[in-house]
Amino acid sequence: MQVTTLNPNRPVRGFAKKPLERLELTQPDDWHLHLRDGEAMHDIAYLSAKVFGRAIIMPNLKPAVTTVAQARGYRLRIVKSLIEHGSPLDVAERFPLMTLYLTEATTVQEIEEAAKSGFVIGAKYYPAGQTTNSEAGLTSLSKIPHVLAAMEKHGLVLEIHGEVADPNTDVFYREQRFADTELPWAFRKFSGLKMVIEHLTSAHALAVVLEAPPTVAATLTPQHLMYDRNDMLGNSIQPHLYCKPILKKRCDREELVKAVTSGNPKFFLGTDSAPHARHTKENTCGCAGCFSAPFALSLYTKVFEDADALDKFEGFASHFGPDHYGLPRNTAKIVLERKPLLVPAEYAFGEHTVVPLCAGETLPWRVERLEYLELREAA
Ligand SMILES: [Zn+2]
Repeated sequence: MQVTTLNPNRPVRGFAKKPLERLELTQPDDWHLHLRDGEAMHDIAYLSAKVFGRAIIMPNLKPAVTTVAQARGYRLRIVKSLIEHGSPLDVAERFPLMTLYLTEATTVQEIEEAAKSGFVIGAKYYPAGQTTNSEAGLTSLSKIPHVLAAMEKHGLVLEIHGEVADPNTDVFYREQRFADTELPWAFRKFSGLKMVIEHLTSAHALAVVLEAPPTVAATLTPQHLMYDRNDMLGNSIQPHLYCKPILKKRCDREELVKAVTSGNPKFFLGTDSAPHARHTKENTCGCAGCFSAPFALSLYTKVFEDADALDKFEGFASHFGPDHYGLPRNTAKIVLERKPLLVPAEYAFGEHTVVPLCAGETLPWRVERLEYLELREAA
């Protein structure tokens, strides 16, 4: 990663330390992204592809993406949408990485087909009833040992929404309980199975991941690195901060920030950007999910800068994800510059609109250019 200081007249912060003005890094990927489908997908998918080289597209549509055939169709709809928004064919085709939604009906044969497909790289565990469209999910990893064994054998990655499905467990402790009850069993029984504990939120689960074998990694969202439950509930209810797993305490957030800024390759970028139409969030029975994709990179950059760890950012954003998944790192470069970025109040989302995380706020970093686009324009 190249870092340069362009403005020597900027006030110096701390001891002889000038704030960076520009960051150049390997193009990042998003290892956890919800794009929905249809017109809504068409309105937002290209916003991610403008920044991220690849993204794992979550399978919790209605009906859920449980088969390779469904994943193929969904992938083609995404690629077509990106091309309609101006993406070159090869860039559009490279962007969506697919994952299957695991249910009690998932077969070993489907896993074998997925491994052969070339575009399905994992399968996702949803605890039944815990988040958007998770009704078809499972109540425990132990329900599908034959499927997990097939994934281990064929090299698919298990992506885990790590909360217990038990509605009687306190919502703030569902991740902790999952980390204590389900994960040790999975680590013991499937030592060769690569896993990603997605959207890590608690210091407790973080400690479990830190002690887990190298086959186990975790993704972190911008919202869990920036906010805690006081921000969501402390003075008034903030529906656009409501997501699953729910925001935890400030001390949890501080531990998460410490972990991602330490340079440990177990932790990498996964936005969990999950758009919901405005009226379904601002509602007496509001949906869980934060929409962050268009400027998630600016949010993460701020987190790393606030922790004085910009030198660790490229590993988290661009290296550790592909390394864990056994995929090549991107070759394109991306440049972030210190220029104010005003987050729009809302985005088009099919017949409705979606309110982004940090709507109306000004962020200090923005993506200035993507090298491969420039090369294409010059060609
Ligand atoms: Zn998600």
